[in-house]
Amino acid sequence: MIVPSIQDLRSIISFDDESGKIWLGEQRMLMLHASSFGALRNELVNSLGLSRAKGLLMRMGSLSGQNDARLARTIRPDSSEEDMFLVGPQLHALEGIVRVVPIKLELDIGSGRYYGEFYWENSFEAEEHLRTMGISGEPVCWNQIGYAGGYTSELVGVPILFKEIECMGMGDKHCRIVGKPIAEWEDGEKLSSYYSADSIAETLYSLSNEVTQLRSTMTEDVNPDDIIGESQSIKAALKLLKPAADCDVPVLLLGETGVGKDIFSVALHRLSKRKDKPFVAVNCAALPADLIEAELFGVEKGAFTGADQSRAGRFERAHGGTLFLDEVGELTAAAQAKLLRVVQSGEFDRVGDIHTRKVDVRLIAATNADLEEKVRAGEFRADLLYRINVFPLHIPALRERVEDIPALVDLFIQKSNVRHNKRVLGITDKVRAAFQQYSWPGNVRELENVIERGVILTEDGGKVDSTVLFPGQQQVGNLLPTVDRSGRLSSNQTVDLNIKEWFAEGNSFESLEQRIIEMALDSTDGNVSATARLLGMGDAQLRYRLKKFEIVAAGGSRVPED
Ligand SMILES: [Zn+2]
Repeated sequence: MIVPSIQDLRSIISFDDESGKIWLGEQRMLMLHASSFGALRNELVNSLGLSRAKGLLMRMGSLSGQNDARLARTIRPDSSEEDMFLVGPQLHALEGIVRVVPIKLELDIGSGRYYGEFYWENSFEAEEHLRTMGISGEPVCWNQIGYAGGYTSELVGVPILFKEIECMGMGDKHCRIVGKPIAEWEDGEKLSSYYSADSIAETLYSLSNEVTQLRSTMTEDVNPDDIIGESQSIKAALKLLKPAADCDVPVLLLGETGVGKDIFSVALHRLSKRKDKPFVAVNCAALPADLIEAELFGVEKGAFTGADQSRAGRFERAHGGTLFLDEVGELTAAAQAKLLRVVQSGEFDRVGDIHTRKVDVRLIAATNADLEEKVRAGEFRADLLYRINVFPLHIPALRERVEDIPALVDLFIQKSNVRHNKRVLGITDKVRAAFQQYSWPGNVRELENVIERGVILTEDGGKVDSTVLFPGQQQVGNLLPTVDRSGRLSSNQTVDLNIKEWFAEGNSFESLEQRIIEMALDSTDGNVSATARLLGMGDAQLRYRLKKFEIVAAGGSRVPED
């Protein structure tokens, strides 16, 4: 093939160092360092991944090619179609990108027929790829192949795709490229997908959504075995768990914030026949009111600004399994109406969609609000409450089950040790006593948080003490029993004995005598002789009274007799 002289192209390049511009015809060009382009290319691959970086570079090349095709028409307007076409390959060489050697070229601009085959020699992109990333398993001249496609498509007037058959970046002696119309490539659709711009922001958004979704369905951290306790109130709740799980009707979990409604919901799912299907949790209070419908029911592309892609909602994702709706009382009126429909019939529409979908989902709702009160106030639908309240399950507050605190403390110490790689032994007696008296408005979750903080702040091998848990907190400090001189615990009301109140409450003189002896014993660490001296009586007199009042000495053992 006879290639026309490149002289006409050389003459349109001018370097205008006075104004800091390089011209190719009327287009401003850049001379950049091949190595810095290579570094940028490498960074694109590392930060965006190979496929995305490849697409970006192909589109960049394609734009250059289109510009050069427009130029070609003006430079060789009267030449043969073949010579006009060869402007592109020659410019590619002149611009320092690659030397192009035509092997075969057939084109007919009028009919859109095209076949082109070329060798590429000294591909700058293959050189940079080899330098920064080493030898590749697939062709690497992405920017250049984009140029070839963009140039040819623009000039011929139909979409032409090029493919590298050989590539220096793969270790071949040179690159060899073939171009033909999209329709003639078997994998044309896949190849052309690189030329449509994709929004990374949109992908990041959907990925971050996916992560949130996965987090909400990850239940490793929520362990039904954490529901422990021997108190009557927790036993009563646990007794209902199995039948509730079995019957596959909506369950409404009731209880204050922090009682563990999330753990109960997971337990219900795991005990149910749906245990191998998805468990999806949504906290209705955590989602903005204007997004709640889209989150629960999904959204069709274009339903509102920003809905660039159709998305399934939580109901669809929970299909076959369980959906846990925490803080269900926070739902908007519109969301309540949709929820009622899906609970009744399993049917719903995505936001912005006319196509009705059907799901099979077991609903567990939870609330710390008084829903009946909300119904009376017109804030919650009575028919919805009726539907979701088929099986109500009350979870007791921690202050209703203080006897479970020691076991829960042990559990949370163990969990916190594992989570923070610590070896904290437990809590001090003083803290233990304070825990029994505290009202725990935040319930089990508050206890767990307090323990976790304590474990973090306590040295390995030590016990969580009150200075760590309640530094300078007066109101909590008041709950703490005082420690007497011997280090034994005594509660404040024993010390602050009020004689008037004592008798006003109907206590006897004998019981006052008993209390005084107990206090005296406390102050001597249970030493009977010392206590007797303190009280101004003989040992035998004191022993008689200890026996009479059945007073237990320090350490839990009965006062020994002579
Ligand atoms: Zn190549």
